Amino acid sequence: MTSTVSLPQLAGHPHFHYQNGVLHAEGVALDTLARDLGTPLYVYSRAALQAAYDNYRQAIGERPVLVCFGMKANSNLAVLKEFARMGAGFDIVSGGELKRVLAVGGDPAKVVFSGVGKQEWEMRDALQAGVKCFNVESTAELRRLSRVAQVTGLQARVSLRVNPDVDAHTHPYISTGLKENKFGIAIEEALQAYELAASLPGLKIVGVDCHIGSQLTDISPYFDALDKLIDLIERLAQAGITIEHLDLGGGLGIRYTDEVPPSPKALLDGVFERLKARGHGHLHLVLEPGRSLVGNAGVLLTTVQFLKHNDARNFAIVDAAMNDLLRPTLYQAYHGVAPVVPRQDCPAQIYDVVGPVCESGDWLAKERSLALAEDDVLAVESAGAYGMVMAGNYNTRPRAAEVMVDGSRFHIVRQRETLDDLLRGESTLP
Ligand SMILES: *Cc1c(COP(=O)(O)O)cnc(C)c1O
Repeated sequence: MTSTVSLPQLAGHPHFHYQNGVLHAEGVALDTLARDLGTPLYVYSRAALQAAYDNYRQAIGERPVLVCFGMKANSNLAVLKEFARMGAGFDIVSGGELKRVLAVGGDPAKVVFSGVGKQEWEMRDALQAGVKCFNVESTAELRRLSRVAQVTGLQARVSLRVNPDVDAHTHPYISTGLKENKFGIAIEEALQAYELAASLPGLKIVGVDCHIGSQLTDISPYFDALDKLIDLIERLAQAGITIEHLDLGGGLGIRYTDEVPPSPKALLDGVFERLKARGHGHLHLVLEPGRSLVGNAGVLLTTVQFLKHNDARNFAIVDAAMNDLLRPTLYQAYHGVAPVVPRQDCPAQIYDVVGPVCESGDWLAKERSLALAEDDVLAVESAGAYGMVMAGNYNTRPRAAEVMVDGSRFHIVRQRETLDDLLRGESTLP
């Protein structure tokens, strides 16, 4: 039997498909994987990671662009190793993320360090590693970085994260380029901040950056931001401050359901066209894509525990919860839900797919038409970005295992946490 037209299509997931009525990641059947390794289980496709990176690489061609994977989206070492191997740099937001980059042999000279609250030890570690650039978000941070650079005797390469005050038309929690956000330096104050940076010892100005938001499905906010950054670069040049690179951050959206996000090629073509038109075609570009490199390279497998019906609703209570995948709870985010072995022996009903955690906000999907029975395995789609990295232990729930599929083989790239792991480090009073 081959897959029939009645099987659901997974939006945006070319490396996950039905074969003989069973959902596969590349050549690996996900029903057996779930039974052998247990659920909840994150499953990534190596080919999907490669394809997503290739999509950027092909769009770049010969142009001077560095892709720094926004690794807070998925920082599993196996994922990072794959990107490092393909030549990517990394956008880090903590000393912990730097440690992960170094652990997989990533090139520190391709690392940019973002974040509004960098501590001294994080600055020191990054200076000693020799990162490409600190993306600085305030004048207070400039002063701290200058002090740390002097103490270590190392020069800090800096870019100022400018807040261009553009509306990215995305969810408020993932929009970062508006005035009311905590991120970046207001564009009107940027020139002064650059002049301060130029006057402080231990700092070398190398760039300008911004990151206007996430899950952008409209390309125009990038160009609005770019126009403002080019204005700034020209004002800086008049003040005698020249820069080597322009960093436009991450933010390209992915398809969760029916979105049609802009492609890396559309973004890059548009950016270089504008740079050339204004005489800045020589500038090096940095991009920090996170979600668009990993989001649709992963699913979260979960098993139906109980079906529960009341007057108002049908609930599928599953073994994954908000502690495993926080996005629905945090952003009311939509994730597709697909049965791993679709059944024809019972009618579809409208279900809310919910976890066992004691919170009404603990849901993974609402009002989905599914034909279900107990013990069925479901794939929560588009779970490769901001999934496992946001997992926690609420309700003393061990964190899920992670698996990377490679052709017809798979590798456990993170062991399932044990209950003993959860109690380690705690103690009662003597
Ligand atoms: C989160 C983040 C990224 C990655 O964003 P995506 O929307 O996942 O592409 C890039 N840069 C910075 C500064 C970030 O905070």
